[in-house]
Formats: sequence, C-alpha cells, structure tokens
Amino acid sequence: MELAGGRNNGYDKDENLRNISDGRNGRNYIYVGIAFTIFAVLTIAHLATMLSGSFPLFNGLDRITDQLPFYENAQNRAEFEGYSGRDIILVCCSWGEELADGELTYFMGEHLIDEDANDNRDVIDRTSIEAVTKAIEEWDSKLEGLRFTETPTRRGADVEIYFRVGQNEKAGITNNYYDYYGFVTKSYVQISKGAFGFAFSGNQLEQIAKHEIGHVLGLGHANFDGNLMAAQVNRGSGSVSGCEVDAVYTANDWWFGKLSGSQPLYIRQPTTDYIECR
Ligand SMILES: [Zn+2]
Repeated sequence: MELAGGRNNGYDKDENLRNISDGRNGRNYIYVGIAFTIFAVLTIAHLATMLSGSFPLFNGLDRITDQLPFYENAQNRAEFEGYSGRDIILVCCSWGEELADGELTYFMGEHLIDEDANDNRDVIDRTSIEAVTKAIEEWDSKLEGLRFTETPTRRGADVEIYFRVGQNEKAGITNNYYDYYGFVTKSYVQISKGAFGFAFSGNQLEQIAKHEIGHVLGLGHANFDGNLMAAQVNRGSGSVSGCEVDAVYTANDWWFGKLSGSQPLYIRQPTTDYIECR
C-alpha cells in the first residue's frame, strides 16, 4: 500500500510542486520511510530463507527414521496396512524449486560425529567416503534429468551427509526439511559406521547410503524384501532398481514428468502415495 502511494506521488509530481504543503511533504517522507523499512525486513527474511534453506517462521520438520537393522518393527507394519498382496514402495514427497535446475548439491562432512565423545575430530576414512560417492554415482547415472554435484562447504548444499559412531542401533537417518507448502528444501543424512557393536562393511555402507538417498529423493519404505528401500539393511538389496527410479520420478513428477513430455512446469505434490513394483 505504501509503495503504491509513493508511486502516485511520483505521478502527480507537477501538482505537488504547485499545491502540496510542507506538511504533506513531511508525511510523504514518513510513508517512504515505512515502505523502505518493510522492504528491508522482507529482504532480510528472503536472504535468511535462502541461506537456511527454509523460511524461519514456517520450518516444518519430518523425520524418516530407519528401523533397527536386524529387527522387525511393529510401527513399520502399520505403515503398510492396506497394501497386502502387493509389492509397493511408499512415495513421500517432492522437492521444490531446488530441483528446477536439474541439480541437487551435496556436502559430505569430513569429521565423524561421535556421540560418546564431546570433541571428536576424527577424519572420515577413505572407504566410507568411497561408499557414499559410489551410492550417489549410481543414483546419478540411473536418474534421467537429475545430477548430483558435490560442494566444498555445507553452505547452500541441498543435501548434507555425515557419518557417525557411538551408541546407536540405526543404520541411517534422513531428516527432510520442508517449506510452508510441503516441498523438500533440505536433507540431512546420517550414516552409522556400525550398530550393536560391529562395523558395517564398505558394501553395507554403500547400501545404506543408497537407501538414505532414496529417502532424500522422496521415497518411503518398500513393503517387501530384496528391495533397496526395505526397512532393514539385511532384508534389502544393494542396487537401485527400476522400481525405485520410477518411484523417484513419481515423487517429483512435476520435474521429471515435464522432461518426458507435455507436463507444465509448475511445482506440485506427488499425485499418489505409493507405486507398485510388480
Ligand atoms: Zn529407511
């Protein structure tokens, strides 16, 4: 409103010169001041949004927590009620405008997160870094229209990936953050170096990383064994199959659908909450 008022005053400039009193001009300065203040606040909020990846006031949080790697979990069974007799992967959610350039950037933490030590600065070993790199390369090569690019700092990265050790019984955790409209704006992945006192092998770490990136890309769990998105490591598979690729396309349909044909480019939620694998 203030901005429109300012524009009108510009339009009426000639009249202002002749008729408008000093008092009126003084009031105009106040209006311009208020307009500028509002503009400055909005600009700062916008910058904060870009830097943090989410609007500070409307920061939704969802937690996709993996189940115990070697135990059945009752909560997970409830998730799959209604799909009996069908092999499905749940579709969770879609990325928003971050996907509109066909690129997701990721940052890999250089230091282990050690829950048992206050100040642990152990550098991540080669095997673990290679496992994550291979996992990302496989997703990258199988998804048409999306590439992953590593960034040297966490600032501005769409995905942050960390390794952790310590008292935990989860193979991996992915936390997706959403904007006000429910689109993913940022993902945090934690991969365990081991669970229940034993260390995961390089192949297992790679499988866990692929599984977590499935969550990053909008997938839930599969309700059948032998699939990458199976809820437990030992029941899963180590490779990205066509069904997970289709599930990612379905989750982020506004982007991938547009690439294959006539879809308009506007960001929208997935139109289904699961896909059937066979
Ligand atoms: Zn999972």
